[in-house]
Amino acid sequence: MKATPCFITLAVLRKMALVLVFLLFSTHPAWARLSVDADILGQVLQEAHALFADDTEGANADYIPELARVPSELFGLALVTVDGQVFIAGDADYDFTIQSVSKPFTAALVLQEHDDPEILVEKVGVEPTGLPFNSVLAVELHASRSVNPLVNAGAMAAVSLVPAESDMERFSKIKQFHEAMAGQELSVIEEVYRSEAATNQGNRAIAHLLKKYGRIYADPEEALDVYTRQCAIGVTARVLAMMGATLANGGVNPISKEQVLEARHVPKVLALMLTAGFYDESGRWAYDVGLPAKTGVGGGIVAVVPGKLAVAAFSPRLNQAGNSVRAMRAIEYVSQRLGLGLFQ
Ligand code: GLN
Repeated sequence: MKATPCFITLAVLRKMALVLVFLLFSTHPAWARLSVDADILGQVLQEAHALFADDTEGANADYIPELARVPSELFGLALVTVDGQVFIAGDADYDFTIQSVSKPFTAALVLQEHDDPEILVEKVGVEPTGLPFNSVLAVELHASRSVNPLVNAGAMAAVSLVPAESDMERFSKIKQFHEAMAGQELSVIEEVYRSEAATNQGNRAIAHLLKKYGRIYADPEEALDVYTRQCAIGVTARVLAMMGATLANGGVNPISKEQVLEARHVPKVLALMLTAGFYDESGRWAYDVGLPAKTGVGGGIVAVVPGKLAVAAFSPRLNQAGNSVRAMRAIEYVSQRLGLGLFQ
């Protein structure tokens, strides 16, 4: 009779300990924030790589001559979780130019520097164009002219909104912001910069057209040059996934823990990515995948799953809209396998 209370207490204690251990594990960020088992993430990435390894649809961008020289068969995937776990497959460490994947990050910098979400609404625009990324027609058709920061017109307008005394300062602010997002130093791939700078008459025309309409806020030649340099920043699939994971993690880099972007600006950037990240294919991407993402003609794409992770892919062959065919397919596969789509 005397021993019973003691046994009950021990049994209760054991149960409590088990519950405690369970609670500890289930609330650890890796488990609490991911609805999927972390082990499966690397496996799904390998599956996606194997599944599309022989996919040769599309062609390298060649309107920037240097991009035509990038080996077309390169194919890399990377996934980074908000608690800093990194998974890769294939050529995830090959250095390629960020191109338009830089656009949401510069838009983020503008929001942060002006400390005002209305700055992009008033000075650039936030509506999708339904037209190609380099459309001059879009500037003529839309009242906001520059239309949104993820097409070339709006991206140059966004560059011109980064407060700076000189083009050097403007570019270094943009580069530093990209580096903080990535949590590492980045360098410009000079050959691609020179190649685009020698052939970007279309973007020059757009920059001057914006000047005519009073919708570019620095010297158009300066904005054009800084924009061209920004597009030539070298990244890898691993780096893009880390930059995306910083957005997924409320603006905090998962490794450096730096609050790079104020959390309140993150939803604005992701909204732009969802509605305009794939230019005139943005609706189709949202319909099929349902994730904010951004593509670039260098062959990179990064998709963000808020609060969970980011997945990036690199493959140089593009479709007619300028989006990497294999990168799109691989990310769509990963998203479906893991049930990542926001509207599911
Ligand atoms: N630098 C490229 C351009 O301005 C970026 C385009 C893109 O990646 N879609 O044409």
